[in-house]
Formats: sequence, C-alpha cells, structure tokens
Amino acid sequence: MKPVTYAILGDIHGNLHALNAVIEDARKLGASAFVCLGDIVGYNANPKECVDTVEGLDAVVVQGNHDYYCSHDITLHDFHPLAAEVIEWTRGQLRPGQVEYLKGLPLVRRFAGVTVVHSTLDMPERWGYVFDPLEAEAHFTYQTTPACVYGHTHVPVVFEKGSHITRQPFSRVKVQSGLKYFINVGSVGQPRDGDPRAAYALFDAVEQVFQLRRVVHDVDAAQASLRSAGLPERLALRLSAGR
Ligand code: ZN
Repeated sequence: MKPVTYAILGDIHGNLHALNAVIEDARKLGASAFVCLGDIVGYNANPKECVDTVEGLDAVVVQGNHDYYCSHDITLHDFHPLAAEVIEWTRGQLRPGQVEYLKGLPLVRRFAGVTVVHSTLDMPERWGYVFDPLEAEAHFTYQTTPACVYGHTHVPVVFEKGSHITRQPFSRVKVQSGLKYFINVGSVGQPRDGDPRAAYALFDAVEQVFQLRRVVHDVDAAQASLRSAGLPERLALRLSAGR
C-alpha cells in the first residue's frame, strides 16, 4: 500500500533530541513515510546518530550543503568561522560509511508528485538562499511539479505562484490546481524564526495538504551535548533563542 501521510524533515543538523521528538510526533499523527531535505549534520553534537536514524527511516533524502562539506575534504575559507569549526569537528566524528552515504545523496528527488531539494532548483549545487519572491521566481522556472519542498534558510514559509508570486507564513497549505507552491518546512535541529520548537511538515498525499508542525523537545539536553562535545557556546545559545 502506498503511504498517504509523509513527514517532511529539514535541517536536522545533528540534533538527535529534536529529531527523535519529531519522529515520535509524526508517527503519532499517522505518518508512514519520511522525506529528508538534507543538512542531516552540522551545528549540533550528534551527527553520527542522526545519520543512522535517517538511514533507518528508509526516507527519500536529498543532500544539503553541510552534508556536502562534511563529506568532502575541501577548504572552508568562504564559511562563517562558527560553521567551519563545526564542519571540521563533524568530519572527525563521521564513520567512513557515513561519509560515503552523505557524499552519495542526490540534490533533487521526488515523492508522491512533489519535488524535493535542499536549497533551490535554480542551480541547486550552488546552494542559493530563497528568502524573497525574486529568488523564488528563479526557482519556479525549474519547478515542473505543483509543489516543491525545501529547507536551507531554516524559516518556514510558502511561496505561491499564480499570476504573481506571494510569500506567506503558513500552518496549512492545500495545493490548488493551476498554482505552484515552493514550501519551506523549517528546521528540525536549529530553527531560526525565533521559535525554538522543532519544525517539520506533514503531507497528506490524498488531500494534497501540507501542515506545519512545531514540536517541543529537550533543548537543555541538546545544549548539554554541545557543551560536553566542546563545541562553541554560541551554538547552544542559538537553540534556546531559535535564531
Ligand atoms: Zn541548514
């Protein structure tokens, strides 16, 4: 039987506490299949466990920029020093098989008629950010399905393209025929919209409805893991601020 309800998880970033809370919430609400928008690792203290968990979900997974940089031995001079430090640390944590797994992830996939990408379909390998309608317009040029889900900015939002493009926060989106949707489901492991709760979305493939979920999880435990791993204190502070 084909799954009806999909849980769409983006930007887990090594936060196992948030990931487990989201999986539990999704299963409780009837999700029988999982989709992962990439950036499984980077920023938090449990990259190995998060890669194992995502692999165990048998999910539809695409590669994020942190997955790419943590699995390739390339210089990080263009990076924010904080991000570069965690990427170096994460490289030292991953098992060789996990590095191969992250390296082998595709940039674009599809499930149930929905396109999946980490950043944008406009040259996804360049990891551009879509925050405004102009950036969304470039993306929509390449979107051939009614809906496409993405992550990367860690801010939940929906761009809707009819005769023009609108940008809205959302809690529920029903796909209407003749329109196109580019939907950011927010971040599981490091939200940046001022709400520290983990974000993800459920997609009902029959009703064609995306529903944004926010899940309370043990932020203190994630912060304690960061501190005991010796990672920068700023990363722990971000988690409680949701920034
Ligand atoms: Zn990310």
